[in-house]
Amino acid sequence: MHISRRKTRQITVGTVKVGGDAPVSVQSMCSTDTRDVAATIEQIRQLETAGCEIIRVAVPDEEAAKALPKIKAAMTVPLIADIHFDHRLALQSVEIVDCVRINPGNIGAWWKVEEVIKAVNERGIPLRVGVNGGSLERHLLDKYGWPSPEALAESALNAVHSLEDVGFTNMKVSLKASDVHHAIDAYWLFAHQSDYPLHIGITEAGTAMTGAVKSSIGLGYLLSQGIGDTLRVSLAADPVEEVKVGFEILKSLELRHRGINVIACPTCGRVEIDVVRMANELEKKLGHIKTPLNVSVLGCVVNGIGEGKEADIGIAGGEGKGILFKKGKLVRKVPMEELMDTLIQEVEQLAKEKEAEGSGEAIAHASEEGWEPLEPQSDQPSTLGKEIPVLSNKR
Ligand code: SF4
Repeated sequence: MHISRRKTRQITVGTVKVGGDAPVSVQSMCSTDTRDVAATIEQIRQLETAGCEIIRVAVPDEEAAKALPKIKAAMTVPLIADIHFDHRLALQSVEIVDCVRINPGNIGAWWKVEEVIKAVNERGIPLRVGVNGGSLERHLLDKYGWPSPEALAESALNAVHSLEDVGFTNMKVSLKASDVHHAIDAYWLFAHQSDYPLHIGITEAGTAMTGAVKSSIGLGYLLSQGIGDTLRVSLAADPVEEVKVGFEILKSLELRHRGINVIACPTCGRVEIDVVRMANELEKKLGHIKTPLNVSVLGCVVNGIGEGKEADIGIAGGEGKGILFKKGKLVRKVPMEELMDTLIQEVEQLAKEKEAEGSGEAIAHASEEGWEPLEPQSDQPSTLGKEIPVLSNKR
């Protein structure tokens, strides 16, 4: 499947490019108390190991802002400060971090936003303008009656235009709603009226399982339409899970090729090896590999090896032994008790060989060519079927 990505401007968050032809990046947010420097650094380390490319921390008070230098010094990926209500915390954070996230709707008087703009401009770092269904401006709630996708899109566009009016364009935008339809519609509306890069996400998506499903549907739809330049999967779970789900979404859409892709059969009455345990163990033990590799775990040889043709390497159960195969071809039979260790060694070896060949890099598979704004369809479900407000973006 070829996805034509929406043409967006490119910004730079620390060492990571967002928008334009940059790969869709995966980010997460620490769930630790930022004031607890040791715990936050430990979680950052785990996120970095999982491949997280940008990390955000909450800065709810001055003590948290004061913790930022130590946190920043201990990390290798870009750091974003998440600020609500108090623009002074943004001013403090700007000195340290690679990007500041504010919601202009809850910062208060416009002069406060302007002070933040001046500060980020002086440091040359971008801003994430994050509008949220839970904190929309009063006049938009009065106009639309509820935090509708149109209200979210209008809020974001108004913020963008106000920032442009003071000469500021170094920003990315997010429009978060916890309802999948509303989030999709809000991003869709904005994406067709602005070319700023989008941070996409379904906010408060839920627990590890429900949140992963909601995010996969919402973000999967947007990404398949070419919308989205960086993403966060919001889960009520260990943030490392957010990173894993984020990459799985991108891998499923072939927007990123990174790390091990475990292909496991669902098992049936023919199963001869413990597929479920082995597949889970493989994901855990091979999580450090960045080289893209498809690894199959198939319960039997009936369809197994044939089904595993697409895999770079794999195992299938057969007559009390394990069968190791590469690209659908039998390599050798392995005693059951040696099966996992053998597969892990073989995968590690294959990853090294691929890296040596230079094919170990994470690859962005996306082109900006051909992204045309879609016309709303009268039969389109949810709010897009209704009249779309003409937002004042044509300037
Ligand atoms: S590979 Fe074998 S065990 Fe797995 S689902 Fe297919 S037939 Fe069943």
